[in-house]
Amino acid sequence: MKDTDLYAALLRLRHPWRVREVKLDIAVDRIDVWIEHAPDAKWCCPECGKAAPLYDHGEEREWRHLDTCDCQTFVHARPPRVKCPDHGVRQIGPTWANPGSHFTLRFERLVIDTLKECDVTGATRLTRTSWDEAWAMMEKAVARGMARKKRRIPKQLSIDEKAFAKRHRYETLVCDLDRGTVEYVVDDRQQESLETYYRRFTEEELAGVEAIAMDMWDPYIAATKAYVPGATGKIVFDKFHVIRAVTEAVDKVRRGEHKDFTLMGDERLKGTKHLWLANEENVPEWRKTEFDLIKHTNLKTSRAWAIKESLRKFWEYSYPARAEAYFLRWYFWATHSRLAPIIKAAKTIKVHLPNILTYFKHRMTNAVAEGLNSKIQMVKETACGFRNRDHYKTAIYFHCGGLDLYPELVSALP
Ligand SMILES: [Zn+2]
Repeated sequence: MKDTDLYAALLRLRHPWRVREVKLDIAVDRIDVWIEHAPDAKWCCPECGKAAPLYDHGEEREWRHLDTCDCQTFVHARPPRVKCPDHGVRQIGPTWANPGSHFTLRFERLVIDTLKECDVTGATRLTRTSWDEAWAMMEKAVARGMARKKRRIPKQLSIDEKAFAKRHRYETLVCDLDRGTVEYVVDDRQQESLETYYRRFTEEELAGVEAIAMDMWDPYIAATKAYVPGATGKIVFDKFHVIRAVTEAVDKVRRGEHKDFTLMGDERLKGTKHLWLANEENVPEWRKTEFDLIKHTNLKTSRAWAIKESLRKFWEYSYPARAEAYFLRWYFWATHSRLAPIIKAAKTIKVHLPNILTYFKHRMTNAVAEGLNSKIQMVKETACGFRNRDHYKTAIYFHCGGLDLYPELVSALP
Protein backbone atom coordinates (compact mmCIF):
# COMPACT_ATOMS: atom_id res chain seq x y z
CA MET A 1 0.00 0.00 0.00
CA LYS A 2 1.26 3.42 -0.87
CA ASP A 3 1.70 5.86 1.98
CA THR A 4 -0.75 8.28 0.36
CA ASP A 5 -3.41 5.56 0.10
CA LEU A 6 -2.75 4.50 3.67
CA TYR A 7 -3.32 8.03 4.92
CA ALA A 8 -6.34 8.60 2.71
CA ALA A 9 -7.83 5.52 4.40
CA LEU A 10 -6.69 6.49 7.92
CA LEU A 11 -8.07 9.99 7.51
CA ARG A 12 -11.25 8.50 6.03
CA LEU A 13 -11.02 10.95 3.18
CA ARG A 14 -13.92 11.10 0.79
CA HIS A 15 -14.23 12.56 -2.65
CA PRO A 16 -13.14 15.16 -3.63
CA TRP A 17 -10.30 15.04 -1.07
CA ARG A 18 -7.19 12.90 -1.53
CA VAL A 19 -3.66 12.72 -0.12
CA ARG A 20 -0.94 14.31 -2.21
CA GLU A 21 2.08 13.66 -0.06
CA VAL A 22 3.15 12.15 3.29
CA LYS A 23 6.40 13.08 5.02
CA LEU A 24 7.81 11.31 8.06
CA ASP A 25 10.49 12.93 10.18
CA ILE A 26 11.37 10.15 12.60
CA ALA A 27 14.00 12.28 14.37
CA VAL A 28 11.27 14.52 15.77
CA ASP A 29 8.40 11.95 15.72
CA ARG A 30 6.39 13.95 13.25
CA ILE A 31 4.26 13.14 10.22
CA ASP A 32 2.98 15.74 7.78
CA VAL A 33 0.18 14.93 5.38
CA TRP A 34 -0.79 17.19 2.48
CA ILE A 35 -4.30 16.80 1.16
CA GLU A 36 -5.84 18.34 -1.91
CA HIS A 37 -9.09 18.08 -3.79
CA ALA A 38 -9.73 16.56 -7.23
CA PRO A 39 -9.67 19.15 -10.05
CA ASP A 40 -13.23 18.23 -11.08
CA ALA A 41 -14.66 18.82 -7.60
CA LYS A 42 -18.01 20.59 -7.50
CA TRP A 43 -18.49 23.38 -4.97
CA CYS A 44 -21.35 25.27 -3.48
CA CYS A 45 -21.44 28.76 -2.01
CA PRO A 46 -21.28 28.36 1.81
CA GLU A 47 -23.67 31.29 2.14
CA CYS A 48 -26.58 30.26 -0.13
CA GLY A 49 -25.75 26.66 -1.03
CA LYS A 50 -26.01 27.27 -4.77
CA ALA A 51 -23.42 25.73 -7.08
CA ALA A 52 -20.47 28.06 -7.53
CA PRO A 53 -17.29 27.73 -9.57
CA LEU A 54 -13.85 27.42 -7.96
CA TYR A 55 -12.16 30.82 -7.79
CA ASP A 56 -8.76 30.16 -6.18
CA HIS A 57 -7.21 28.74 -2.98
CA GLY A 58 -6.39 30.34 0.33
CA GLU A 59 -2.95 30.12 1.98
CA GLU A 60 -1.82 26.67 3.05
CA ARG A 61 -2.94 25.87 6.58
CA GLU A 62 -1.95 23.22 9.08
CA TRP A 63 -4.09 21.29 11.60
CA ARG A 64 -2.90 18.97 14.31
CA HIS A 65 -4.65 15.58 13.97
CA LEU A 66 -4.58 12.40 16.08
CA ASP A 67 -1.06 11.01 16.52
CA THR A 68 0.14 8.14 14.34
CA CYS A 69 2.19 5.58 16.30
CA ASP A 70 3.25 8.29 18.75
CA CYS A 71 4.23 10.68 15.95
CA GLN A 72 2.44 13.99 16.08
CA THR A 73 0.49 14.17 12.86
CA PHE A 74 -0.33 17.33 10.96
CA VAL A 75 -2.68 17.77 8.03
CA HIS A 76 -1.99 20.50 5.47
CA ALA A 77 -4.37 21.91 2.90
CA ARG A 78 -5.19 25.05 0.97
CA PRO A 79 -8.90 25.76 1.47
CA PRO A 80 -10.64 26.39 -1.86
CA ARG A 81 -12.52 29.62 -2.52
CA VAL A 82 -15.55 29.88 -4.76
CA LYS A 83 -17.14 32.80 -6.57
CA CYS A 84 -20.87 33.07 -6.06
CA PRO A 85 -22.83 35.42 -8.32
CA ASP A 86 -24.72 36.71 -5.27
CA HIS A 87 -22.13 36.56 -2.48
CA GLY A 88 -18.82 37.07 -4.24
CA VAL A 89 -15.66 35.19 -3.26
CA ARG A 90 -16.17 32.87 -0.29
CA GLN A 91 -13.87 30.32 1.40
CA ILE A 92 -15.04 26.70 1.70
CA GLY A 93 -14.64 24.95 5.02
CA PRO A 94 -12.56 23.35 6.28
CA THR A 95 -15.15 20.84 7.39
CA TRP A 96 -12.67 18.95 9.57
CA ALA A 97 -11.91 21.82 11.96
CA ASN A 98 -13.62 24.70 13.69
CA PRO A 99 -13.02 28.12 12.13
CA GLY A 100 -9.67 29.49 13.24
CA SER A 101 -8.69 26.30 15.08
CA HIS A 102 -5.31 24.64 14.65
CA PHE A 103 -6.76 21.24 15.58
CA THR A 104 -8.98 18.84 13.70
CA LEU A 105 -12.37 18.02 15.22
CA ARG A 106 -11.17 14.47 15.93
CA PHE A 107 -8.26 15.83 17.89
CA GLU A 108 -10.56 18.16 19.82
CA ARG A 109 -12.70 15.17 20.75
CA LEU A 110 -9.64 13.39 22.10
CA VAL A 111 -8.68 16.43 24.19
CA ILE A 112 -12.24 16.64 25.58
CA ASP A 113 -12.11 12.94 26.51
CA THR A 114 -8.77 13.46 28.21
CA LEU A 115 -9.97 16.56 30.07
CA LYS A 116 -12.88 14.55 31.41
CA GLU A 117 -10.47 12.09 33.02
CA CYS A 118 -7.92 14.43 34.55
CA ASP A 119 -7.09 18.06 35.28
CA VAL A 120 -6.02 20.52 32.61
CA THR A 121 -2.31 20.15 33.35
CA GLY A 122 -2.58 16.36 33.08
CA ALA A 123 -4.47 16.67 29.80
CA THR A 124 -1.77 18.94 28.35
CA ARG A 125 0.89 16.32 29.15
CA LEU A 126 -1.10 13.43 27.68
CA THR A 127 -2.11 15.23 24.50
CA ARG A 128 1.05 17.33 24.13
CA THR A 129 -0.83 20.60 23.95
CA SER A 130 -0.25 23.84 25.84
CA TRP A 131 -2.37 24.89 28.81
CA ASP A 132 -3.95 27.68 26.76
CA GLU A 133 -4.80 25.31 23.92
CA ALA A 134 -6.39 22.68 26.17
CA TRP A 135 -8.23 25.31 28.15
CA ALA A 136 -9.57 26.96 24.98
CA MET A 137 -10.95 23.57 23.88
CA MET A 138 -12.63 23.14 27.26
CA GLU A 139 -14.21 26.59 27.06
CA LYS A 140 -15.37 25.94 23.52
CA ALA A 141 -16.83 22.58 24.53
CA VAL A 142 -18.83 24.25 27.31
CA ALA A 143 -20.06 27.02 24.99
CA ARG A 144 -21.10 24.37 22.49
CA GLY A 145 -22.91 22.34 25.14
CA MET A 146 -24.70 25.43 26.47
CA ALA A 147 -25.86 26.43 22.99
CA ARG A 148 -27.29 22.96 22.44
CA LYS A 149 -28.93 22.70 25.85
CA LYS A 150 -32.69 22.86 25.80
CA ARG A 151 -34.35 25.40 28.03
CA ARG A 152 -36.13 23.54 30.78
CA ILE A 153 -36.71 23.97 34.47
CA PRO A 154 -36.00 20.90 36.62
CA LYS A 155 -38.82 19.50 38.75
CA GLN A 156 -36.54 19.03 41.74
CA LEU A 157 -33.97 21.71 42.35
CA SER A 158 -31.25 22.09 44.89
CA ILE A 159 -29.68 25.43 45.68
CA ASP A 160 -26.30 25.38 47.29
CA GLU A 161 -23.58 27.83 48.13
CA LYS A 162 -19.97 26.84 47.64
CA ALA A 163 -16.98 28.64 49.03
CA PHE A 164 -14.77 29.66 46.19
CA ALA A 165 -11.04 30.25 46.59
CA LYS A 166 -10.18 31.76 49.98
CA ARG A 167 -11.56 34.71 51.90
CA HIS A 168 -15.19 33.63 52.01
CA ARG A 169 -16.12 34.29 48.44
CA TYR A 170 -19.11 32.28 47.34
CA GLU A 171 -20.77 30.92 44.27
CA THR A 172 -24.41 29.85 44.13
CA LEU A 173 -25.01 26.53 42.38
CA VAL A 174 -28.43 25.50 41.10
CA CYS A 175 -28.64 21.74 40.53
CA ASP A 176 -31.13 19.40 38.93
CA LEU A 177 -31.78 16.64 41.46
CA ASP A 178 -33.32 14.28 38.93
CA ARG A 179 -30.45 14.39 36.48
CA GLY A 180 -27.68 15.10 38.96
CA THR A 181 -26.34 18.06 37.02
CA VAL A 182 -25.29 21.61 37.78
CA GLU A 183 -27.69 23.84 35.90
CA TYR A 184 -26.43 27.25 36.81
CA VAL A 185 -23.48 28.87 38.60
CA VAL A 186 -23.60 32.51 39.65
CA ASP A 187 -21.41 34.82 41.75
CA ASP A 188 -22.15 35.38 45.44
CA ARG A 189 -25.03 34.08 47.51
CA GLN A 190 -27.33 37.07 47.56
CA GLN A 191 -31.03 37.12 46.81
CA GLU A 192 -30.16 38.73 43.49
CA SER A 193 -27.77 35.86 42.62
CA LEU A 194 -30.51 33.25 42.74
CA GLU A 195 -33.06 35.56 41.15
CA THR A 196 -30.95 35.76 37.98
CA TYR A 197 -31.62 32.04 37.56
CA TYR A 198 -35.35 32.24 38.16
CA ARG A 199 -35.68 35.20 35.82
CA ARG A 200 -34.73 32.99 32.90
CA PHE A 201 -38.10 31.26 33.15
CA THR A 202 -41.73 32.27 32.87
CA GLU A 203 -44.05 32.14 35.86
CA GLU A 204 -45.79 29.18 34.29
CA GLU A 205 -42.52 27.29 33.91
CA LEU A 206 -41.55 28.08 37.51
CA ALA A 207 -44.92 26.75 38.68
CA GLY A 208 -43.73 23.36 37.38
CA VAL A 209 -41.02 23.16 40.04
CA GLU A 210 -42.15 20.63 42.61
CA ALA A 211 -39.52 20.85 45.33
CA ILE A 212 -36.44 22.93 46.10
CA ALA A 213 -33.82 21.73 48.54
CA MET A 214 -31.71 24.46 50.08
CA ASP A 215 -29.90 25.75 53.09
CA MET A 216 -31.69 27.80 55.75
CA TRP A 217 -30.33 30.93 54.14
CA ASP A 218 -32.65 33.95 54.07
CA PRO A 219 -31.61 35.41 50.67
CA TYR A 220 -32.34 32.08 48.94
CA ILE A 221 -35.66 31.76 50.73
CA ALA A 222 -36.64 35.33 49.75
CA ALA A 223 -35.65 34.84 46.09
CA THR A 224 -37.58 31.58 45.87
CA LYS A 225 -40.67 33.00 47.52
CA ALA A 226 -40.55 35.99 45.17
CA TYR A 227 -40.43 33.88 42.01
CA VAL A 228 -41.67 30.32 42.46
CA PRO A 229 -45.46 30.01 42.75
CA GLY A 230 -46.39 28.01 45.87
CA ALA A 231 -42.80 28.20 47.19
CA THR A 232 -43.88 27.84 50.84
CA GLY A 233 -44.91 24.24 50.35
CA LYS A 234 -41.99 23.44 48.04
CA ILE A 235 -38.93 24.60 49.95
CA VAL A 236 -37.18 21.76 51.74
CA PHE A 237 -34.37 22.46 54.17
CA ASP A 238 -32.77 19.12 53.63
CA LYS A 239 -30.96 16.79 55.96
CA PHE A 240 -27.56 17.72 54.62
CA HIS A 241 -27.94 21.42 55.40
CA VAL A 242 -29.72 20.98 58.72
CA ILE A 243 -27.09 18.54 59.97
CA ARG A 244 -24.40 20.87 58.74
CA ALA A 245 -25.77 23.66 60.95
CA VAL A 246 -25.51 21.40 64.01
CA THR A 247 -22.13 20.02 62.95
CA GLU A 248 -20.75 23.54 62.80
CA ALA A 249 -22.07 24.07 66.33
CA VAL A 250 -20.31 20.86 67.48
CA ASP A 251 -17.09 22.21 66.02
CA LYS A 252 -17.48 25.51 67.88
CA VAL A 253 -17.97 23.61 71.15
CA ARG A 254 -14.89 21.47 70.42
CA ARG A 255 -12.71 24.47 69.62
CA GLY A 256 -13.73 26.23 72.82
CA GLU A 257 -13.17 23.17 74.97
CA HIS A 258 -9.87 22.33 73.30
CA LYS A 259 -8.66 25.86 74.00
CA ASP A 260 -9.60 25.59 77.69
CA PHE A 261 -7.94 22.18 77.96
CA THR A 262 -4.75 23.35 76.24
CA LEU A 263 -4.38 26.15 78.79
CA MET A 264 -4.31 23.44 81.49
CA GLY A 265 -1.86 21.35 79.48
CA ASP A 266 -4.52 18.77 78.53
CA GLU A 267 -4.16 17.71 74.90
CA ARG A 268 -6.82 15.03 74.71
CA LEU A 269 -8.91 16.79 72.05
CA LYS A 270 -5.93 17.40 69.79
CA GLY A 271 -6.33 15.90 66.32
CA THR A 272 -9.91 14.76 66.97
CA LYS A 273 -11.73 17.39 64.90
CA HIS A 274 -12.86 15.11 62.07
CA LEU A 275 -13.99 12.33 64.40
CA TRP A 276 -16.67 14.61 65.82
CA LEU A 277 -17.71 16.06 62.49
CA ALA A 278 -18.12 12.82 60.53
CA ASN A 279 -21.27 10.76 60.65
CA GLU A 280 -20.64 8.10 63.28
CA GLU A 281 -20.54 5.25 60.75
CA ASN A 282 -17.95 7.13 58.70
CA VAL A 283 -15.32 7.28 61.43
CA PRO A 284 -12.38 5.36 59.94
CA GLU A 285 -11.89 1.82 61.19
CA TRP A 286 -8.44 2.45 62.63
CA ARG A 287 -9.69 5.30 64.84
CA LYS A 288 -12.85 3.60 66.13
CA THR A 289 -11.33 2.38 69.41
CA GLU A 290 -9.87 5.78 70.18
CA PHE A 291 -13.16 7.48 69.34
CA ASP A 292 -15.22 4.99 71.40
CA LEU A 293 -13.11 5.84 74.43
CA ILE A 294 -13.29 9.60 74.06
CA LYS A 295 -16.94 9.93 73.06
CA HIS A 296 -18.11 8.28 76.31
CA THR A 297 -16.14 10.62 78.55
CA ASN A 298 -17.84 13.55 80.15
CA LEU A 299 -16.91 16.27 77.70
CA LYS A 300 -18.89 19.19 76.37
CA THR A 301 -17.80 18.09 72.91
CA SER A 302 -19.12 14.56 73.34
CA ARG A 303 -22.47 15.90 74.57
CA ALA A 304 -22.70 18.20 71.55
CA TRP A 305 -21.75 15.29 69.30
CA ALA A 306 -24.46 13.02 70.76
CA ILE A 307 -27.05 15.74 70.15
CA LYS A 308 -25.92 16.05 66.54
CA GLU A 309 -25.99 12.30 65.93
CA SER A 310 -29.43 11.88 67.46
CA LEU A 311 -30.93 14.54 65.18
CA ARG A 312 -30.09 12.36 62.17
CA LYS A 313 -32.80 9.88 63.27
CA PHE A 314 -35.41 12.56 62.52
CA TRP A 315 -35.27 11.72 58.80
CA GLU A 316 -35.87 8.03 59.42
CA TYR A 317 -39.50 8.58 60.37
CA SER A 318 -42.27 7.76 57.93
CA TYR A 319 -44.93 10.03 59.34
CA PRO A 320 -44.41 13.77 59.67
CA ALA A 321 -46.36 13.94 62.96
CA ARG A 322 -44.03 11.37 64.55
CA ALA A 323 -41.00 13.14 63.15
CA GLU A 324 -42.23 16.42 64.57
CA ALA A 325 -42.76 14.88 67.99
CA TYR A 326 -39.26 13.43 67.83
CA PHE A 327 -37.89 16.83 66.87
CA LEU A 328 -39.57 18.55 69.82
CA ARG A 329 -38.00 16.06 72.26
CA TRP A 330 -34.64 16.63 70.58
CA TYR A 331 -35.17 20.39 70.75
CA PHE A 332 -35.82 20.24 74.48
CA TRP A 333 -32.62 18.27 75.01
CA ALA A 334 -30.55 20.56 72.75
CA THR A 335 -31.82 23.80 74.32
CA HIS A 336 -31.14 22.45 77.81
CA SER A 337 -27.60 21.38 76.96
CA ARG A 338 -25.98 24.55 78.32
CA LEU A 339 -23.87 24.58 75.16
CA ALA A 340 -24.40 28.01 73.57
CA PRO A 341 -23.59 27.08 69.92
CA ILE A 342 -25.90 24.04 70.10
CA ILE A 343 -28.75 26.09 71.59
CA LYS A 344 -28.35 28.68 68.85
CA ALA A 345 -28.36 26.04 66.08
CA ALA A 346 -31.41 24.30 67.60
CA LYS A 347 -33.32 27.59 67.66
CA THR A 348 -32.47 28.30 64.02
CA ILE A 349 -33.71 24.86 63.05
CA LYS A 350 -36.93 25.27 65.06
CA VAL A 351 -37.75 28.50 63.24
CA HIS A 352 -37.47 26.63 59.95
CA LEU A 353 -39.21 23.45 61.07
CA PRO A 354 -42.24 23.75 58.73
CA ASN A 355 -39.93 23.61 55.73
CA ILE A 356 -37.87 20.82 57.23
CA LEU A 357 -41.05 18.78 57.59
CA THR A 358 -41.77 19.30 53.87
CA TYR A 359 -39.17 16.57 53.40
CA PHE A 360 -41.80 14.01 54.34
CA LYS A 361 -43.94 15.24 51.46
CA HIS A 362 -41.25 15.45 48.80
CA ARG A 363 -38.77 12.80 49.98
CA MET A 364 -35.88 14.22 48.07
CA THR A 365 -33.09 11.74 48.05
CA ASN A 366 -29.74 12.91 49.19
CA ALA A 367 -27.81 10.40 47.14
CA VAL A 368 -27.83 12.43 43.92
CA ALA A 369 -26.91 15.65 45.69
CA GLU A 370 -24.10 13.93 47.59
CA GLY A 371 -22.72 12.35 44.43
CA LEU A 372 -22.81 15.70 42.71
CA ASN A 373 -21.21 17.43 45.68
CA SER A 374 -18.27 15.06 45.71
CA LYS A 375 -17.83 15.62 41.97
CA ILE A 376 -17.85 19.40 42.50
CA GLN A 377 -15.38 18.99 45.34
CA MET A 378 -13.12 16.98 43.03
CA VAL A 379 -13.29 19.69 40.36
CA LYS A 380 -12.30 22.25 42.97
CA GLU A 381 -9.38 20.17 44.18
CA THR A 382 -7.99 19.25 40.79
CA ALA A 383 -8.28 22.84 39.67
CA CYS A 384 -5.38 23.96 41.86
CA GLY A 385 -7.55 26.63 43.48
CA PHE A 386 -9.07 28.54 40.60
CA ARG A 387 -8.18 32.15 41.12
CA ASN A 388 -10.51 33.12 38.34
CA ARG A 389 -14.25 32.79 38.85
CA ASP A 390 -14.92 32.22 35.18
CA HIS A 391 -12.44 29.35 35.06
CA TYR A 392 -14.13 27.77 38.05
CA LYS A 393 -17.53 28.06 36.41
CA THR A 394 -16.29 26.63 33.12
CA ALA A 395 -14.79 23.61 34.88
CA ILE A 396 -18.00 23.00 36.85
CA TYR A 397 -20.13 23.13 33.71
CA PHE A 398 -17.66 20.94 31.85
CA HIS A 399 -17.59 18.18 34.48
CA CYS A 400 -21.01 18.48 36.12
CA GLY A 401 -23.25 20.23 33.61
CA GLY A 402 -24.44 17.11 31.79
CA LEU A 403 -23.72 18.96 28.54
CA ASP A 404 -23.18 17.56 25.07
CA LEU A 405 -19.60 18.78 24.70
CA TYR A 406 -18.32 17.20 21.52
CA PRO A 407 -17.96 18.86 18.16
CA GLU A 408 -19.99 17.16 15.50
CA LEU A 409 -17.93 15.37 12.87
CA VAL A 410 -18.98 16.40 9.41
CA SER A 411 -17.26 15.16 6.27
CA ALA A 412 -13.61 14.77 5.32
CA LEU A 413 -11.27 13.76 8.17
CA PRO A 414 -14.29 12.59 10.18
ZN1 LIG B 1 -24.05 32.48 -2.53
